[in-house]
Formats: sequence, structure tokens, C-alpha cells
Amino acid sequence: MIAATTFAGKRVALFGLGGSGLATAHALRAGGADVSVWDDNLSAREKAAAEGFAPVDLAQADWSQFASFVLSPGVPLTHPEPHWTVRHAQAASVEIIGDVEIFCRERRVHAPSALFVAITGTNGKSTTTALTAHLFAALGKDVQMGGNIGTPILSLAPLSSERVYVIELSTFQIDLAPSLDPSVGVLLNLTPDHIDRHGTMAHYAAIKERLVAAADRAVISVDDHHVREIAERRFAAGRETIAMSVAHPAMADGMVVQGTTIEHRSARVSTPIADLAGIASLRGAHNAQNAMAAVAALGDLANDHARVQAGLRSFPGLAHRMENVGRRGRVLFVNDSKATNADAAEKALLSFRDIFWIIGGKSKEGGIEPLRPLFSRVAKAYLIGAASDDFARTLDGAVSFERCGTLDVATRAAARDAAQSQAAEPVVLLSPACASYDQFPNFEKRGDAFRAIVADVLKNGGLS
Ligand code: ADP
Repeated sequence: MIAATTFAGKRVALFGLGGSGLATAHALRAGGADVSVWDDNLSAREKAAAEGFAPVDLAQADWSQFASFVLSPGVPLTHPEPHWTVRHAQAASVEIIGDVEIFCRERRVHAPSALFVAITGTNGKSTTTALTAHLFAALGKDVQMGGNIGTPILSLAPLSSERVYVIELSTFQIDLAPSLDPSVGVLLNLTPDHIDRHGTMAHYAAIKERLVAAADRAVISVDDHHVREIAERRFAAGRETIAMSVAHPAMADGMVVQGTTIEHRSARVSTPIADLAGIASLRGAHNAQNAMAAVAALGDLANDHARVQAGLRSFPGLAHRMENVGRRGRVLFVNDSKATNADAAEKALLSFRDIFWIIGGKSKEGGIEPLRPLFSRVAKAYLIGAASDDFARTLDGAVSFERCGTLDVATRAAARDAAQSQAAEPVVLLSPACASYDQFPNFEKRGDAFRAIVADVLKNGGLS
């Protein structure tokens, strides 16, 4: 744990005891703060009480006694409207921060030279964070990974200048970290997503920009115009910035992906760093962007090309994101359950050919119509869940399909057809372009179910 020593002797209010909230309360107490915790949810309060934090109803509290207010990320700070606790804090002029801000303050005091790599973007955060941490480990570094992925930031191992902290940050976490100052800030991409929760695209982009604004070194994609403008502002200010592009391999300076090779460019002189060919966990142009960002985040350590290449090769990938879950002969089985919308499913369709595509669930607005240009890659579609009628209408006349109802029926039917295909590598792909909650509690459970069915098919040949 990272004790919040910079809060010693202070009274701190904390709202939101799910997720990282309770871990933050522990870090504050360990650092010597007097913490008043609250949550709207009774069972969260009971859990905190069981761990020795007597809940204090913040609606009734005297806010003038608090030095700081720690809010859980995701509890609205600004949009759609400020949470009631935010209004109390503002009325009493109490600063509003999150656990990442506490980490930054501790780092500045105890280990200012500890390498702190912060990663954000609309898509690819988790993959890039996991890969960056994996590469640092492959280069022999003592790495701590957390934040918006896995472990809450204050539950990581204590700060030490020898350690590298690789941290995924959501927009909410950045918004609650006013003095965010990573050694390396990585900004992957910016596209409209959940804008209702961020007000406007401009507001969303401004928050994301803060992650790179105060970074010693920034790694910024220039492939969409929002991030390009941010990169240009860094360059104009003369700050150390690495531009990276998948879309423009001829770029003169920065990092590019030429074919399958990640290259560093300086005044048009290219230095190849690593080759992504044949690395199954990093298929597709989107993963090329993630891999390039991870390599760029290494700084001079990336000069050890052999170890970087070995690290990329040994990256296991993340569960439910184009995860290889089995092979039978030529047939590959891929779990992309995290693809809960057409945008995400597009990445998988672009990464394979001869696809036996399992789709459906609870569909989002627009359905799979945006994927029509990629239908030629689909050998056949297998429909499950509530979206079946809607998707059948879109596919009609363009792709042959079968209504399967359940994931079990769909997987076995797709495995049967893929086995009979003449293609070099037929792919049974669960990339549902839908939320899961008509049939599963979440995308993880859906992916786990797919993995189990595939295991059964591979073991027992249980085809329908
Ligand atoms: P995040 O943590 O930002 O949600 P993930 O690494 O978990 O990102 O990837 C989630 C999905 O987003 C993937 O399954 C893929 O469809 C898509 N994706 C991943 N990386 C990128 C990228 N660099 N650009 C666009 N889409 C991506």
C-alpha cells in the first residue's frame, strides 16, 4: 500500500466506497489522516464499518472541518450535474480530489524520480497499459501496474525511486487529479464516447489533454484530429513530445508502423525497433497503435531491441479482447466479448478473414449497419440474443446467417461450419457488437462462457 502521508493530521471526507474508495480510505488512515467515509449504498457502508471506518453522513456533516474531499471516479463531478457531495465541498471551498492526486503528491515527496507512466485514450487503454508494464518487466524493471486496470493505485507497492508505475487513467480519474505530473504521458486516441457523461467533446478532450500537458515526456498519436491538436500544442510549447502514427507511415519524425515494423523516425531516417508479424496477441492496426505507444513509453530502454522484441512476443494479451482461446486444426477460436458496440467489433473484423461471426445480445443504436463494408470478410453469421431480428434485417441478402438463440448453439454451429471451410485459417469469432446483459451479467461472464464452450468443443468434439 502507498500510505497517504501528505495528509497526516488532516480531516478528510471520502465519498464512494466501491472500487478504489475503500483502498483510498485505508491509505489515508495509514498516512495518519482522520477519514470520514460515506456511500449511498448501505452494504458498502457496512463493509467499510467492518474494516474500522465508522461511516459519517456527509449530508449532515460540517464541511468546514475538512481539508480535502476525496471522490470516487465516476461519481459525477460536473456532468450531467455535480453530485450533492460536490456541491457541499464547493460551498465550503474544500478541494475535490481522487486517489491519483494523492499518489502524485506522495510521489513528489517520497520518490520524485520514480518513473510514472500514465496512459489514457478513448480506446486501447488497458491493452497498452498491460503491454507497457509487460515490456518494462521484460527489460528487468520492478513494475507496478494499476489505476483503472486491476489494482487501485494506492494499493500498489510503496513508492521507491527504483520502481516503475504504469497507470491506466480514465477521464474521471484525470479530472480528479489537478496536479497530475507523470514522467511519461501517453495519449492514444480521442473519439466521441459517453459524451453525455463529459458534457461536450471539447470538455472531454480538455480533460484528456491534462494527462500529457504536465508530463515530462509525452507520447501522442496524431491519427485523429483531437489528439493531433494536442500534440501540436506540445510541440509549439517546445516540450518533449513523440508523435506516433499508424495511418501515416511516411511521417518524417516520431514513431510509425511501416507494414508490421515499429520504426523510430528522425529527419526521415528510420530505425526499426520491433516487428509485430506473427504476434497473435497484437493483431490488427489498433493493436499496432497500442504496441507502438508501449514501445515509445519505454524511452531509451527501447534501444534494447532484442529484449523489446522478446517482450512483445511473450505478451499474453488481455482476456476478452481478441483473445485466442483455442485452435483445432486450421480453425482458430477468438473471444472478443469486450466488443460491446460496432466500433469495437470493427477492429476484430479488420483483423481476420474467413470469419464465422457470433453476434448479438442487447444492441446499441445503429446496430451493425456501420460494419457493412466489412461483411465480405464474414463467411457466415450466427445470431444470439435480443438483437437477432434487428441484425437479421441488416445481414439479409449480404451475409448468410443462422438464428441460434444461445451462445452455446451458436458456438457449436460456427465450429461445425468453420471445420468444413476450405479457408487457410477460418476463425470462429465472438465479437458480438452488443451489450451482454440480456443473457449474461457482463461481458466477462459472456467471454468466460464462450471459452468454456470452446474447451468442450475441442475436448469432446461436441459440435451440433
Ligand atoms: P480500453 O481500456 O480503453 O477500453 P481495451 O484495451 O480494453 O481499451 O480495448 C477495448 C476494445 O477497444 C478492444 O476490444 C478493441 O475493439 C478496441 N481497441 C483497442 N485498442 C484500440 C485502439 N488503439 N484504437 C481503437 N480501438 C481500440
